Amino acid sequence: MLEIANLSVTLPSRRGPLHVLRRIDLSMAKGQIHGLIGESGCGKTMTAMALLGLLPEGAVVAADRFRFDGDEVAGRVKTLRGRRIALISQDPAAALNPVLTIGRQMDDVIRSHHALPRPERQAKAVDILAATGLPDPQNLLRRYPHQLSGGMQQRVVIAQALATGADFLIADEPTTALDVTVGAQVLRLLRDLVASRGLTVLMITHDMDVVAETCDRATVLYAGISVEEGPVGALLDHPRHPYTQALLAALPDAAPHGARLAAVEGSIPPPTETLPGCAFAARCPHATAACAAPPPLRNAGGQSWSCHLELP
Ligand code: SF4
Repeated sequence: MLEIANLSVTLPSRRGPLHVLRRIDLSMAKGQIHGLIGESGCGKTMTAMALLGLLPEGAVVAADRFRFDGDEVAGRVKTLRGRRIALISQDPAAALNPVLTIGRQMDDVIRSHHALPRPERQAKAVDILAATGLPDPQNLLRRYPHQLSGGMQQRVVIAQALATGADFLIADEPTTALDVTVGAQVLRLLRDLVASRGLTVLMITHDMDVVAETCDRATVLYAGISVEEGPVGALLDHPRHPYTQALLAALPDAAPHGARLAAVEGSIPPPTETLPGCAFAARCPHATAACAAPPPLRNAGGQSWSCHLELP
């Protein structure tokens, strides 16, 4: 469904070029949920913006391959936005207009993507709201966002994404603003929609529980680089890249009760820095002199990772 190879994005700034994405490889099969994992500043949201054609003015984009559903789309990716690709943002309250009814906001989306008379648009809105599990969708059309709970608002945002007709959804931390129970319901809804409608979802998250419960495969990003990719079970049970290992070791569940939590010491290199060798070298416990050169891509057990160590 999506195949990106060696995507880079550079933004202009007074401090010099900002290498916000250095080397992103992403391969996603139709009908799967693919996690995009990493700490803040690793390039998750910028990757989503590149996919939506929403990069800031002056952004320089390059890629060896940028294929969507079999077609090369480099340079025209924004034509897919709203037609094939839609975004589910992390804050539903901010995504919805507080002074317009849900009906009006659903109608605006449907009208801009489907040439239908008003009664059919309204019927479509009711159908899609019902498909997201919202009770009494007919009555919901007359309500305002502030009259809904956070979980209901997120379902409306998902309904808007579906109303565009898009079959590829980018879910940007979709449960961050929700409590645990409601977040779990939203994730279940996304899984159900993938199964029933054949959607493909890119799940941006820093939450490994979300990855474990929801995703089929995942890609780990570091400093704007894809450092590891694989099936979720293998990735979480046997992480190969030292950064993925450090990320998982830093989870609260990984530490014995009462013990000090592990941390990945140091910080991500700033985007102003050029990185001729391994981007993780300054923080990696296994770094050697060889790591000053670009690491090779390795493959085993369905996983791929970039590292000089044969078995990190
Ligand atoms: S290439 Fe070297 S520095 Fe980079 S992750 Fe592997 S061992 Fe660590």
